Amino acid sequence: MGASSYGVDAHAHDGVQHSPKGKTRRVLSRTIARTVMAATAGVAIVCAILFALVFYYVVDERAASDLEAECETFAEVLDTQAVDTETTLALLRQDAAVVPSDTRITLIDENGTVLFDNRADAALLDNHSMRPEVIQAIETGEGGSGRYSATLQEETLYHCVRLNDGSVLRLAVTQSSVWGVLQSLLVPYMAVLAAAVLAAFLAAWAISRKIASEFLTVDLDRPLENDAPQELVPLLARLDAQKKSIDAQAAERRRFTANVSHELKTPLTVISGYAELIDRGIARPEDVQKFAGLIHAEAQRMKTLVDELLTLSRLDDAQAAAEGMRIDMDQDVSLAQVARTVVARLEPAARNRNVALCVAAPDDDGLSDIAVKGNARMLEEMTRNLVENAIRYNVEGGRVTVSVSRDRRGAPMLRVSDTGVGIPPDLREKVFERFFCVDESRSKETGGTGLGLAIVKHAAQFHGAKVCVYGNDPRGSVFEVTFPL
Ligand code: ADP
Repeated sequence: MGASSYGVDAHAHDGVQHSPKGKTRRVLSRTIARTVMAATAGVAIVCAILFALVFYYVVDERAASDLEAECETFAEVLDTQAVDTETTLALLRQDAAVVPSDTRITLIDENGTVLFDNRADAALLDNHSMRPEVIQAIETGEGGSGRYSATLQEETLYHCVRLNDGSVLRLAVTQSSVWGVLQSLLVPYMAVLAAAVLAAFLAAWAISRKIASEFLTVDLDRPLENDAPQELVPLLARLDAQKKSIDAQAAERRRFTANVSHELKTPLTVISGYAELIDRGIARPEDVQKFAGLIHAEAQRMKTLVDELLTLSRLDDAQAAAEGMRIDMDQDVSLAQVARTVVARLEPAARNRNVALCVAAPDDDGLSDIAVKGNARMLEEMTRNLVENAIRYNVEGGRVTVSVSRDRRGAPMLRVSDTGVGIPPDLREKVFERFFCVDESRSKETGGTGLGLAIVKHAAQFHGAKVCVYGNDPRGSVFEVTFPL
């Protein structure tokens, strides 16, 4: 038996698979690939944004402090070399070329009028008195600010220092904003992202192949002998348990079939033997009557056997369909009534064997009645089998008592005790097995089939009841069925 006999498709990882019902199956490798790729892309994008933010703030911080230092130095030079605004302007016109070309230099008087700008015509510029860095410088001697341009791609940093003559020197630099940094990173970043996603895809593909191969190399015939990864062990343990249970069921079925065939063959051989003697005219006329009796007895035996097999099979079926139960298990059944019905029916059989049969049960109409939930017919059948056995495996002048009571906890209990041959203690568990007989010849002789107690056990289980058997004092057996509270 290969792996595929358990329904594992060897090609399931190659693409989407469809089950016989047309349901789309998930493909493990795709799930893994999608997850790994999404995770990689997510991490990469978050990293890029974080990197841009950190990069931008570090650069921004540096640029602002550089600008501040530059502005202060420049202001100091102007203050030491110039005596008034006129000389300051003259110095600025000379020195503007000294400062880095990307720096804008502006001189503003205390009223906000622009006196000088190295980038624009000062006369055309509007009043700067409301600029925050200018206000701050006029008030405190020094001020700074930053402004984004309309497109948010650039940011301009300003720094102002108030000069001795009361005018304000302003230096400004323009640099990429955080969005600008991000945008400039976009193209190389897309390439890195694509490479990362491709690497993730390859990794996912390799991982899923590896995982799929772990599944496919599992030997399902010997689940626990595999050198499988830890994660597969619970699954394999369940498979192993299931396989053992299936094997046990198969063995049980084979044994049962063999037993049934054997049990049916014996009476058939007898019937066909005697019938043949009569058919061929070999039987003497005075024997024909006797043979007919034997044939009848064997046929009767077969009928009993088939009836019991049908009962067992019905119980098996009902067990299997426990939910959609076809058997009415909701009846309130009086155990005393069951005991009396069965005893009345088996009274003649007991009398035939010279066995006394009696019931010890509370009235089935009064308050003392003991009732259980279940199926009356099944409970009668169970009790009948127990009482039949108690009569059958009894001795001349023996006694059978069917009693209904409650145990110490108050659970309903039905007990059948006899003063018969008893069951050896070591065989008491086995008597409930199908076709088991302590004494084959005695069982046959009294019309036993070996199925009676199997039916009892099944019917009891069906009612949630427990059956146990022990020895009677001084001799015989006691069968006790205890129902749930
Ligand atoms: P059978 O049809 O052979 O009686 P059962 O399943 O009813 O089959 O019982 C199985 C075996 O248990 C019987 O063959 C018999 O040996 C033993 N047994 C059952 N009930 C009694 C009892 N009351 N006293 C002694 N032996 C019993």
